[in-house]
Amino acid sequence: MSEIPKLPRELPHHKLYHRLSPARRNRGVFADTWRFIMKSQRWSFDRMEGYVEKRLVEMVRHAARECPWYRQVFSDLGMDVEDFGCRLDLSLLPLIGRDELRDHVDEMVPDSQDRGELVFSATGGSSGIPVGFYRHKERTRAMESAFVTRFRTWAGASDTTREVICAGGVGDESERAQWAVDRRGNSLALASDDLNRLNFKWMLPLARKFKPRIFRGYPSAMAAFANLLLEAGETFPVEAVFTSSETLYDAQRKRIEEAFAAKVFDLYGHSERVIVAAECEKHEGYHVFSEYGLLEIVDENGSVIQEEGQVGEVVGTTLLHDYFPLIRYRTGDRAVYTARRCSCGRPFPLILRPDGRLQELLVTADDRRISMTSINRHDDLFAAVDQFQFHQREAGKAVLKVIPGPDYSDSERERIIASVTKHIGGDFALTIEVVESIEKTRIGKHRFLIQELEGI
Ligand SMILES: [Zn+2]
Repeated sequence: MSEIPKLPRELPHHKLYHRLSPARRNRGVFADTWRFIMKSQRWSFDRMEGYVEKRLVEMVRHAARECPWYRQVFSDLGMDVEDFGCRLDLSLLPLIGRDELRDHVDEMVPDSQDRGELVFSATGGSSGIPVGFYRHKERTRAMESAFVTRFRTWAGASDTTREVICAGGVGDESERAQWAVDRRGNSLALASDDLNRLNFKWMLPLARKFKPRIFRGYPSAMAAFANLLLEAGETFPVEAVFTSSETLYDAQRKRIEEAFAAKVFDLYGHSERVIVAAECEKHEGYHVFSEYGLLEIVDENGSVIQEEGQVGEVVGTTLLHDYFPLIRYRTGDRAVYTARRCSCGRPFPLILRPDGRLQELLVTADDRRISMTSINRHDDLFAAVDQFQFHQREAGKAVLKVIPGPDYSDSERERIIASVTKHIGGDFALTIEVVESIEKTRIGKHRFLIQELEGI
């Protein structure tokens, strides 16, 4: 495909539309959240702290009254619901790891919650051990969208600012496309899974023709685009670049900022939705969105870190999602503690770069890079396996090692292969091997992908 495709092109499938734009099907929830958080970001630190403590107490008491899991926790501790009265009490409660979440997820839903309003998702999470969690059909996306839109305003953009998106595939397995424009015509999505030298030849002019004010995507995809630009001796000046979903490395940030002549604004979040943190225009660290979730950083013994510069695991308590109150959830991600405050004056604590999530990219025979983040997007792809890990020694080929769960079967195996290879596209040879254990790194961290390729 060397010809530049014609713009605009309407998307044929509604799923693409929802994937491309912040869906605001529930406009009331979006508007309420938006109004509140645009005001609260101007509060003083003390006022925000007071709000966080009040919401925390409400959320924990709600969970302890309504959810079988937390009722049991309180009963084991010999605590009454009313005994939980301030932020300091949080350290009395146990941390929730992936195993607890996996084995007790249904006990963490409030008794009074209508389950018909919830959707269950099981993704690879960020550790390769699939975890399931609930989100609300209407509310989750609308609230999330309000927070992301506020973040965009920190870079001088809004939710409708014209943008090019490079974040994995475009569409889903039922309908794969290399590019698409959303219905409102505000965003052009390019399939970064298909980005290689050959496709760059039409992707670049297409993107230029779209005249975006911002670029948004996975760090790996944005860095690949930046490298191709610089390699061609070109730049693509925009007002800002937004990145999320993977660790952003310093070298990538530099390349992206050079190629796009703009600052990178990085956002950290995860599918379990307890913590969101993002950079403001001062770039002095990541602001933890206080109204969204309460952050703790803990050491390997689970003790809360309060020492400048110390690295630990991100533990989050939702202050937002009362339909599924995750309290002290261990995300498996790492961040650096700091007591410093940002010179922008916004009342949010800072953390330094969450540096724990490895970028892992499968390489295809035609030299495309497929981010594991984009493969893990599928809601229930790995639901029937206890753990998985890709192994790649040769471009265009991989072995997926799985520890099967009770529901694993030949048809599940076929479904995983079909879905992953379809997602990757082209000729990709995937085989599945059932194993009893899965290799970890020296520091004991699980990896999605073990790769021994030349020159990667
Ligand atoms: Zn700031």
